[in-house]
Amino acid sequence: MKLHRLIFCVATLAVVAAWSVSSDVSAADRKAKVLFVSQSAGFRHGSVNRGGKELAPAEIAMTQLGQQTGLFDVHCTQDCAADFTKENLQKYDMVMFYTTGKLPIAEADLDYFFQEWLTQKGHGVVGFHSATDTFKDYKPYWDMIGGSFDGHPWGSGTTVTVSVHEPNHPAMKAFGGSEFQIKDEIYQYKNWQPEKVRVLMSLDMSKCKPSKPYHVPLAWVKDYGKGRMFYTNLGHNEGTWTDKRFIESVTGGIRWVMGLEEADATPNPELSAKENEKAKAAASK
Ligand SMILES: [Zn+2]
Repeated sequence: MKLHRLIFCVATLAVVAAWSVSSDVSAADRKAKVLFVSQSAGFRHGSVNRGGKELAPAEIAMTQLGQQTGLFDVHCTQDCAADFTKENLQKYDMVMFYTTGKLPIAEADLDYFFQEWLTQKGHGVVGFHSATDTFKDYKPYWDMIGGSFDGHPWGSGTTVTVSVHEPNHPAMKAFGGSEFQIKDEIYQYKNWQPEKVRVLMSLDMSKCKPSKPYHVPLAWVKDYGKGRMFYTNLGHNEGTWTDKRFIESVTGGIRWVMGLEEADATPNPELSAKENEKAKAAASK
């Protein structure tokens, strides 16, 4: 009997071991493959400056986030000419941009990216901060990301007050309610098309200095064909990349882009119109 029990135990362990190995393999299969592009063809931020090290602060943050959540594997590149090609893009589910300027990408590869790659279900873009200070004269890019950098009246040392319009959105839960403050550099935009994006948070002009008489959005989402796009203005300061709220917000945005969480991406231009009016009223005080 004892031998039978031993055999039973060993057999059970073997089954459990085999099951856990196979579930690990399938979990690995489901991991998204991310290409994190942080080449600076214009201004180079400290957050993407490798400074002789293997990875920059933003790259370290995203690599660790992928490992800690088990959601994705990141390949970091600052060499678009080599890595942002039709052939290479096919290995990835998501592209993250923390870039500036006119990146050295061939026209045919850009066409493929906007017309085919990003329109596919399961594919998506996450844009950080100066992703909107990239390809400002190239419409397919700014039309995809949602707007273009047009100055930053709120510098990196400014603490701003932010209104969260959808505190329950996967990318907004981290901020713990309808308002928060953060020290970071905040952009205003040209090429802004409120009718094409769903704004998730904006500056509260009644509590920001300087107070400008127009809406300044801080994060938004949009559908792009069957693909998805999440953009956040935050991330200029290196300190933002170790701010738990920012990392959790980005995690939520990534989960939405991956289709792990659902949330409305219907454009909300009425919100931009309302925020414009509120900003005008605040600035005239
Ligand atoms: Zn910046």
